[in-house]
Amino acid sequence: MSKIDQFDAVVIGAGISGMYQLHRLRGLGLSARVFETGDGVGGTWYWNRYPGARFDSESYSYGYSFSKEILDEWNWTEHFSPQPENERYLNFVADKLDLKKDIQFNSKVVAARYLDEQNLWEVEIEGGQRVRARFLITAIGILSAHQFPRIEGMDSFKGQSWHTARWPKEPVDLRGKRVGVIGTGATGVQVIQEVAKIAGQLTVFQLDPNWCSPLNNSAITEAEQTEIHAGYPAIFDACRKSFGGFVHDFDQRPFFEVPQAEREAFFERQYQGRGFGIWLGNFMDTLTDPRANAEISAFMAGKIRARVKDPKVAEMLIPKDHGFGTKRVPMETRYYEVYNQDNVTLVDLNATPIERITPQGIKIGDKEHALDYIIYATGFDAVTGAFKRIDIQGKGGTKLADKWKDGPETYLGMQVAGFPNLFMLVGPHNGATFCNIPRCIEQNVEWVSDCIAHMQKQDLQRIETTETAEAAWTNHVYETTQGLLFSGVRSWFVGSNTPGKKATFLVYAGGRPSYRQNCEAVVAKGYEGFVTSSSISFPESTDPIHLYR
Ligand code: NAP
Repeated sequence: MSKIDQFDAVVIGAGISGMYQLHRLRGLGLSARVFETGDGVGGTWYWNRYPGARFDSESYSYGYSFSKEILDEWNWTEHFSPQPENERYLNFVADKLDLKKDIQFNSKVVAARYLDEQNLWEVEIEGGQRVRARFLITAIGILSAHQFPRIEGMDSFKGQSWHTARWPKEPVDLRGKRVGVIGTGATGVQVIQEVAKIAGQLTVFQLDPNWCSPLNNSAITEAEQTEIHAGYPAIFDACRKSFGGFVHDFDQRPFFEVPQAEREAFFERQYQGRGFGIWLGNFMDTLTDPRANAEISAFMAGKIRARVKDPKVAEMLIPKDHGFGTKRVPMETRYYEVYNQDNVTLVDLNATPIERITPQGIKIGDKEHALDYIIYATGFDAVTGAFKRIDIQGKGGTKLADKWKDGPETYLGMQVAGFPNLFMLVGPHNGATFCNIPRCIEQNVEWVSDCIAHMQKQDLQRIETTETAEAAWTNHVYETTQGLLFSGVRSWFVGSNTPGKKATFLVYAGGRPSYRQNCEAVVAKGYEGFVTSSSISFPESTDPIHLYR
């Protein structure tokens, strides 16, 4: 019989959440192994290395906050840091905490099965390797299962093509080339504005346009650097209190009680300010009251018309299917001005859809767009997609995919009834899904680590949520969307961007403070909604690694 390594915990994914979780598990004295598909750490910031990829959160609000040493030793160079620096940062953290020795790279987890009698998870890696663990912790991200469109002839293309989430590590020289980009979400916008600077001809294939807003990025000056380091406690405190975990927070003044000229001046200030201020620092009413939303949408439409010279093109770039802020707002840097360039063409796929991809390019109606490169910026099977790609089986062989076929059901977005000792970081219906993600990741990891520490102390071997608690939480998540204008809009928040996926709300929309309070209340009430047990009998372990000291 081949030897199966056993650990106290297996973590899937070495992104921001998996890395911190490993650190905390070690702090509890537990043996842990992280399995990572890529050959380096970083998750999102490892895979998304397309030109233009950068934070849309202020850099200093995005890094880990748990270690003063890490904060002290790292200097961000820009207010919104680019991907190469982000990947360097995560490697710096991994090296500083000596994490890599417990991460097995190039190891894609394909299955995880709960073994009822042993109360262990057996995890299978592509290629056949199997390991067992008392706890299984998923750190697989909400936007990691990238998806291609289904267009005839895609394989026939003779040039090169990639999804943005699988951009090659080797340098790609697009200078002077004919490049097509499909997709104009937050990713497409970032890539388009970069490629437009160098491509010979850039053709943008757009379905529905998005409301994009200026990032207003710049280098961090020396004086700002000093201010940032001194201000970290205040920055993280602001993020802790804000709805989305950002440095921006909603203005709660009733929209129509503020005089119109004042509202207009406020919009203008936010538009000229950095990052998500115009979205998440705006009047809360813009996301709940259709009349308030119409006013901010008209303001944003005016900006597009002012920046795009050709009125016909400007109209093509103004969303008609949703109001401002009711989908994730892409952040841009001279994105709209790109369409004033002679080397850029915008193609409206709603007017004429793509007929097929040909060996030479993209055929639309009777026109064939000849291309050297096709870039698919077509998004992700969000939130639940990464779970679907692993065969996860709980008690009695129940498949998670079957349980979630009509939408996810979870407790706190962290556990699922019938799947004992499985914790999800940034899982569906978790507060971290609609958040400045590292801020909520830290909360998730700390909650899970405290729960495991509690189990250690009480000598508990198993924790599982109940179906009652799960149903109540799922219901609560749907309640958080009531009155929000984005609940009726087609987007990855509801999974409607993925063909064949049932549209249900995938994110928690109650805000960071409320999510945290819910998690804290559960602990204060003795892990209410969970059933724990210490009475599982274990067969003799044949393995040298002890379980659960
Ligand atoms: P996305 O928002 O889902 O956008 C995908 C784009 O592809 C949309 O424009 C979509 O059009 C288009 N598309 C999909 N299928 C298509 C088809 N068959 N034919 C033509 N077009 C098609 O995906 P994303 O831009 O990758 O962004 C996903 C999320 O990642 C963002 O919302 C954000 O949360 C995150 N992100 C974050 C950052 C950052 O923080 N720096 C950067 C990038 C992305 P329709 O919308 O009309 O379907």
